[in-house]
Amino acid sequence: MRGTCSSARNTGVCLYCSTSATLLVTIAWVFSKKQEKVALLGTISNLTFQMVIRWWSKETVAVVTGANQGIGYEIARQLAVHGLHVVLTSRDFDRALGATTNLQAEGLSVQPCQLDITDAGSVMSFASWIQLEHGGIDVLVNNAGVNFNGGADNSVEFAETVIKTNYYGTKRIIDTMLPMMRPSSFGARIVNVSSRLGRANGRKNKIGDPTLRENLMKDETLSEELLDEMLTNFLSQVNDGTWQNGGWPQMYTDYSLSKLALNVYTRLKARRLSERLDSHRVYINCFCPGWVKTQMTNWEGNMSAEEGADTGVWMALLPVENISSGRFYAERREIDF
Ligand code: NDP
Repeated sequence: MRGTCSSARNTGVCLYCSTSATLLVTIAWVFSKKQEKVALLGTISNLTFQMVIRWWSKETVAVVTGANQGIGYEIARQLAVHGLHVVLTSRDFDRALGATTNLQAEGLSVQPCQLDITDAGSVMSFASWIQLEHGGIDVLVNNAGVNFNGGADNSVEFAETVIKTNYYGTKRIIDTMLPMMRPSSFGARIVNVSSRLGRANGRKNKIGDPTLRENLMKDETLSEELLDEMLTNFLSQVNDGTWQNGGWPQMYTDYSLSKLALNVYTRLKARRLSERLDSHRVYINCFCPGWVKTQMTNWEGNMSAEEGADTGVWMALLPVENISSGRFYAERREIDF
């Protein structure tokens, strides 16, 4: 679709500018060659993706959190379409069952399970069930998340729930599932669905305190304690009503901070996991799906859930030669965070 748009734009320029006829023919020829090349590359990368570098099988188990709807549902669907076995989780079992039934009707290998990432009991039951049912997992996609702001709103009324879900809930499920990630020469994979709003080093919406920013960016100073201290400080300012002068990100402050913590934690965790032996490697990365039309955005956005899911699925299935750890991606490209 993107090719179609750029083609229309190019055609417009040629038709309406005063370029000579010969030059127009040359431009048209170059353009058609470029289109052929793009089409060929598309075929090659599809073939490569599906046939040559396919490291997974129908025995490969992927768990997706918050997968009853939105981007999570799409990630679950696309992983299953690629041939993995997907455990589709939701905090409400009936919703997991409904979503799973839809995907099974398409012939996909999907299983429902209840999982509320903020509930220690639910996480433990889930882990025990996985152990009994599958003996371990290969891919974990941490998609579950909440946001209570929209448009120009910036309320922190639900800040505690946002931080508890997006950061501490995700951290809980990572720590619980890590010992169950199966060793393999391809490496197990953790994909965290995050947001550009949580970039520690972004031009906009960043943390005002330069020392805190620097400490979050540097390996020597970054720690879980530093993240806990930052979030506790923010929540106590929310409680005493002083948060607006705290130098926090200005847009969707609670959500941005929860995703910033998740991004930075991903880097920290990647560093720790890099000490593992090759046969026990776990790659952990995060990505921003873009501005996606889902319930979270009140169906505003410029992308479908299907498009939003793409980078996460791509990261989960990268061949081991091309996979890194502790990185942040958007639109299948690494970006600085
Ligand atoms: P949705 O609201 O459609 O989906 C969120 C999912 O998370 C739902 O399935 C929800 O379950 C689930 N969830 C919420 N809390 C919990 C919990 N405690 N335990 C388990 N599951 C939970 O939103 P999106 O699909 O848009 O969001 C998916 C992810 O993408 C989120 O992490 C979000 O932050 C991120 N994201 C989204 C963007 C967008 O533009 N849409 C942009 C950037 C990032 P339930 O149905 O029960 O509420």
